[in-house]
Amino acid sequence: MRSVVGDATAKKLATLGLETIDDLLRHYPRRYVSLGEMTDLASLQVGQYATVMARVVEAVNKRFGPGGRKTRTEVTLTDGNARLTLTFFSQPWRQAQLTPGTVGLFAGEVGQFNGRLQLTHPLYEPLEGPDALEGRIARGIIPIYRASAKIPSLAIERSVETVLPVADVEDPLPQDVRADRGLPSADVAFEMIHRPRSDQQWRTARDRFRFEEAFVLQTVFAQRRHAALGQTAVPRRRRSGGLRDAFEQQLPFTLTDGQRAVVAEIEADLAREHPMHRLLQGEVGSGKTVVALLAMLQVVDDGAQAVLLAPTEVLAAQHHRGITAMLGALAEGGMLGGAAEGTRVRLLTGSMGAKARKEALLDAASGAAGIVVGTHAVLQETVQLAELGLLVVDEQHRFGVEQRAVLVDRYDTKPHVLVMTATPIPRTIAMTVFGDLETSTLSELPGGRQPIQTTVVPAAERPDWLARAWDRVREEVADGRQAYVVVSRIGDGDKEAGERADPEGPPTRSLVDLHEELAAGPLAGLRLGMLHGRQHPDEKDATMTAFARGEIDVLVATTVVEVGVDVPNATVMVVVDAERFGVSQLHQLRGRVGRGGHAGLCLLVTSAEDGSPSRERLDAVASTSDGFALSRLDAEQRREGDVLGAAQSGVRSSLRLLSVVKDEQVIADAREAATAFVEADPELTTAPDLRAAVERLEQSQQADYLERT
Ligand code: ADP
Ligand code: MG
Repeated sequence: MRSVVGDATAKKLATLGLETIDDLLRHYPRRYVSLGEMTDLASLQVGQYATVMARVVEAVNKRFGPGGRKTRTEVTLTDGNARLTLTFFSQPWRQAQLTPGTVGLFAGEVGQFNGRLQLTHPLYEPLEGPDALEGRIARGIIPIYRASAKIPSLAIERSVETVLPVADVEDPLPQDVRADRGLPSADVAFEMIHRPRSDQQWRTARDRFRFEEAFVLQTVFAQRRHAALGQTAVPRRRRSGGLRDAFEQQLPFTLTDGQRAVVAEIEADLAREHPMHRLLQGEVGSGKTVVALLAMLQVVDDGAQAVLLAPTEVLAAQHHRGITAMLGALAEGGMLGGAAEGTRVRLLTGSMGAKARKEALLDAASGAAGIVVGTHAVLQETVQLAELGLLVVDEQHRFGVEQRAVLVDRYDTKPHVLVMTATPIPRTIAMTVFGDLETSTLSELPGGRQPIQTTVVPAAERPDWLARAWDRVREEVADGRQAYVVVSRIGDGDKEAGERADPEGPPTRSLVDLHEELAAGPLAGLRLGMLHGRQHPDEKDATMTAFARGEIDVLVATTVVEVGVDVPNATVMVVVDAERFGVSQLHQLRGRVGRGGHAGLCLLVTSAEDGSPSRERLDAVASTSDGFALSRLDAEQRREGDVLGAAQSGVRSSLRLLSVVKDEQVIADAREAATAFVEADPELTTAPDLRAAVERLEQSQQADYLERT
């Protein structure tokens, strides 16, 4: 870069993160202005760094200072309506340069002087005359770049002008892939995006680069999937007459069609000689755990072990309890009264006592425990497993991919991996973030599940509704049911708020205060319990167990109840300060009620006003139970970077034009094209530029993630 644009400019460009020629060329214009289309000067804001196109009205030199030895040139600009002042100190020659009628581009920080907006020492660029950038008038469109005070848009434009003719541009898109879609080559597209001659040109170029981003990323994934076919895993074929069959026979319900289909997919995956990499997504309560358990038992039947990783101790303990209960005698292998073919289910968490831990570790190492359930603490310590056959990761969102990798990396023969998530992920995001995983979806809820009725309770406008909400809780408890009350923060002075903590919003109720208030007021006489993330794990577990046993009527909790907590007798949930939570989070939360045969009720208490964006979000949650629709809405409302939260920065920074929310069609098309291309040419030998682009992406952090999956 330095050799082309010079040292000084290269340094300035570097402040924007533009180090190479490729970086510069891919610093696409943010927007374009047409010549003759003046900037609306009235819309400028003080402090903003602006590039404006305007006409000079007049330029005057004023003298000031001792003996009038200093000059100040004041230039008045207009867009036809509003005016803007430019000020130059000690540059009297500006007056002659900026003659009335001259149209130019002016760039600088918008300041204020004597109540008028002004630019001091702006960068100036004439649009006509001998100094004008060549060709720009003919083109008629000016690109505006993301810039800074150190390096304004105009300077970036000049650098691009310098670089474009000499750059040796790579084209990651293979000729055929481009031709099929009528996309221009990279060199043509760079020209069109930086120096467009029509709006159509830059639009076409953007389409091309957007597709390129999707295509390169999907090529990485396609190669990974292809490589996985080259990795070996021990096939764990289904054995008849084993634990799995015995378990299926004792299931108190029949599997839904959806569960059956996914079970069959996984059964087939496990029987292959290559590691399974599958993502199982399904609504809260769609019955993923049973599906996973069948897979685990298939592996155990083959003499290997399965590890189930949960994001929190509460969930790990609950999975352990649930699985043990579901298996019954089948989980009492080697114990008196246990089934002859039985195995053991062991829990391993960070906080368990030394004795229990030792027993669990021994059973894990000897293979006596066919199933080991734990938190990431299981990973961080040296847990020996006799033979790991299957790794199940529950609630991927909370569980770092790195942690998953730690366990897998230790084994020469890769285990099969099943990732489960209860947050429905829109298809395109799944393809971008988990593009190397095959996806299965459970889209129906098991029969007999009652729908959850959700109602917004505007506490400020209708205090009577709030009173009614607490009455509903009392009624359910009187009927022998249980309730959750969810709050966004624990106590005073803490920062553990819901996702949408907003320092300027109205004060929120803390768990500690609300617990006290309810006990003294609307819920007096009921058995209340408290659950939050800062309690000791033993205390949390004891509270959860008591709630599960029906010894607590109302559990006042933070979002620790969000994922997976399963108490079928709980039928009402009151979410306090509901506007503090994200759409998907609320959907997750309400999935905790109505899990038994009783109808569920979720009351979203809010002080957000009717018609406000917060209220609209809550109304959306109340009006649909479609988790995919809500997660899409959630994604649309968040910034792209937040949506890609689970992806590594390598992917994020490679996506400049592509939106994982909006560009579904592009991503799907790119995925298909990339898969076909890699199948025909796995090493990309016919497309060296694509290969280079893929290698660059792989070198970034994302490669780490992909490598380990
Ligand atoms: P998820 O993990 O997807 O949230 P779970 O596997 O925990 O869901 O299932 C939720 C509840 O539904 C559990 O109590 C489970 O035993 C029950 N369940 C699962 N599958 C079925 C089915 N096919 N029919 C009836 N109940 C089911
Ligand atoms: Mg679950």
